[in-house]
Amino acid sequence: MSDLVVDIAVNIAVNKTFHYLVPDHLKEQLAPGSRVLVPFGSRRIPGTVLGFPDKPEMSSLKTVIESLEDRLTPDLLELSRWMAEYYMFPLGQAIEAAVPKAVSRAKPKKKRYLQLMSPVSPPPSPEVRGRKQAALLQLLSQQGDTAIESLTGFSAGVIRALVNAGIAKVVEREIEAETEQLDFAPSEPPGLMQEQREAVRNMEEAIAADKFQVFLLHGVTGSGKTEVYLHGIKCLAGTGKGAIVLVPEIALTPQLLSRFRKRFGSRVAVLHSGLTDRERADEYRRIQAREVDVAIGARSAVFAPFDRVGLIIVDEEHENSYKQDEGLRYHARDVAIMRAKFRDAVAVLGSATPSLESYYNAQSGKYRYLRLANRVDHRPMPEVKIVDARPFAKQHLYSPQLLDGVKQRLEKKEQTLLLLNRRGFSSVIICRECGTAVKCPCCSVSLTFHKSENVLKCHYCGHFTKPPGECASCFGTDLKMIGSGTQKVEEELQKLFPAARLRRMDSDSVKGKDAHDRLLQQVDRLEVDILLGTQMIAKGHDFPTVTLVGVVDADVGLNLPDFRACEKTFQLITQAAGRAGRGEAAGEVIIQTMNPNHYSILHSRTHDYEGFYNEEIAFRTQLKYPPVGRIIKLEMKSANEGYAKEAARTAQNRIRYLMTNRNRAGDSSISVAKNGGGINTPPSQRGAGGDCDAPAKDVILLGPAPAPISRVRGQYRYQLLLLSQKREMIRYLAAEGRNAVDEKYGRKCKVIIDVDPVNLM
Ligand code: ADP
Ligand code: ZN
Repeated sequence: MSDLVVDIAVNIAVNKTFHYLVPDHLKEQLAPGSRVLVPFGSRRIPGTVLGFPDKPEMSSLKTVIESLEDRLTPDLLELSRWMAEYYMFPLGQAIEAAVPKAVSRAKPKKKRYLQLMSPVSPPPSPEVRGRKQAALLQLLSQQGDTAIESLTGFSAGVIRALVNAGIAKVVEREIEAETEQLDFAPSEPPGLMQEQREAVRNMEEAIAADKFQVFLLHGVTGSGKTEVYLHGIKCLAGTGKGAIVLVPEIALTPQLLSRFRKRFGSRVAVLHSGLTDRERADEYRRIQAREVDVAIGARSAVFAPFDRVGLIIVDEEHENSYKQDEGLRYHARDVAIMRAKFRDAVAVLGSATPSLESYYNAQSGKYRYLRLANRVDHRPMPEVKIVDARPFAKQHLYSPQLLDGVKQRLEKKEQTLLLLNRRGFSSVIICRECGTAVKCPCCSVSLTFHKSENVLKCHYCGHFTKPPGECASCFGTDLKMIGSGTQKVEEELQKLFPAARLRRMDSDSVKGKDAHDRLLQQVDRLEVDILLGTQMIAKGHDFPTVTLVGVVDADVGLNLPDFRACEKTFQLITQAAGRAGRGEAAGEVIIQTMNPNHYSILHSRTHDYEGFYNEEIAFRTQLKYPPVGRIIKLEMKSANEGYAKEAARTAQNRIRYLMTNRNRAGDSSISVAKNGGGINTPPSQRGAGGDCDAPAKDVILLGPAPAPISRVRGQYRYQLLLLSQKREMIRYLAAEGRNAVDEKYGRKCKVIIDVDPVNLM
């Protein structure tokens, strides 16, 4: 046999593919997407077959060691190539994110069948002796291959006799997928509202046409988006295609899960981080064998290994958790859209508060816009009141209006939800003499006091310590807690309403999926009067009996150094408000704020997404921030602060050089900001001009600056930001900046490229 060479993307940090020889026994077997184990240096590492090169370099090629069982479907291979390219990440490693790992460790279920060697008729042929053997032969020639376990009337001896006579043979086969029909429909779907029907009809048409299409399903809270998803998935019945449903966080969506289970029964696979390797492998196998119609999961479920995907739904598409924050920094929403594109499938992005990006794309016609403007059964949107917190904030947490509202609910035996956006007893401890806060020794963030454990904790690295007796900076002893976390709010509230049944929901009080489920069920059973918590309580729950939602401090977040702070605040308040009045009784929302005239707050009061969008997009347009422009972040990370800082300068110099040289060549489309300000200007300071010059020009370079959280887990971080409407231009500049640092610093400083960064902290 002649030598066969394959091109393989190996799981290493370098973006390069390698040629290997294929051993004879694998020659028939390998195809693009096949997973193999290859020798690499002194190691054996996994790789993926990309193809067969025409004119391979034959000398000193190593040989593939073995074939692995997990396999990358053609669309996942294509998707990986796209991710590697778009996110500027090594292909071999991008594939690792998409490959259904651990599948190889669990064997697929197989059944043994008895098969006739050739059609025999009419039985019995001369070799067959005995009545039983003749009967079996007849059965096989009538009904074809038959599972051995179902041949209950025949002894093993009879079967063996036919096999020994060369008439039949035993074959092993993976269990076939059950029928395409949904095999479980105990819950009757409600009749759809007019707007829901319209949305489903649009989705159905696109699915039937096998055409790539993205829909933005913009439905106010309580408008029945989930019901639209469920109907959309039903449109796939009989097509042999599967559906993927992405949710921000699986533990926070037990209600959604149970609705899917009620509708589709066992034909739902749930992928979440709590699965063991074996369970995960089993879910993957069920997906590959088409034993399920729907796979539900967080971010990484976008890679669910359906051979054919017909529909991908991204619920609460505006959520930040869809963006992976380390390794391959992909955005699951955008990957979902690309996967749909490669497969001529339909993507549905659902939200009551769409990301600026998605709404912008809907406006430009890139996405089809589906609106659910009304709540189910035309229930009214809750009435929202804004309370100026400035007069009382120094003395109290609660306004008289909010306290009165809670009191009324308690009397009427209705429920209240209180949103607070911080954890712990008290956000920070500061020294009253010098004003310094107690900070994490590893990360540049304040520590949070947790009363129940009497410790200070870092929310970035997990570091914890006893509260100090004196200030580390001036040795003053007058230390004071400021801010108010959920525990403190809980204590105060319990004092005010001693008889109320109060529960707190945040990541401290609710550990694990079960605790969360249990708490939600208690609320459902009306065993809770007041549910207090962090943004966890704002997300997607359907509590028909909640009639009052209070936002204790709407301002948290407005002043974060992030250009999306206003968008996030609008989304959070609108989503929280959306929890009120979902049942028979009307809802009321009270928002306490120190910024009663801020547009994020004012527009959430009137449930006016378009109004908010128009103001926000004007600001983004002016400064060329996303979605109008694109951003790439370059992060220099090192245990040595000097290296991180100098490396950032090195990247900056290379990029600047390229920018100015292009300028000289007559391309005036690039500009350099005077210093590191701009992108992280708190929104409260917007309109003050900012630091970057000439935002009208085509490329803007910001930085280098220490990241707002300048040190994490002992690593110093410096960042550069590239902004432009010309995506290819900043990709090129980012790559060059990275090359410059790699050449000069090698392992001493790591460069991370984040395309479309969400987290600028
Ligand atoms: P959203 O996700 O838009 O906030 P949901 O899908 O959770 O809204 O729907 C809100 C509530 O209305 C749920 O209890 C759901 O079962 C119910 N619902 C949805 N569609 C209908 C309908 N057409 N008729 C009656 N009830 C519906
Ligand atoms: Zn820390």
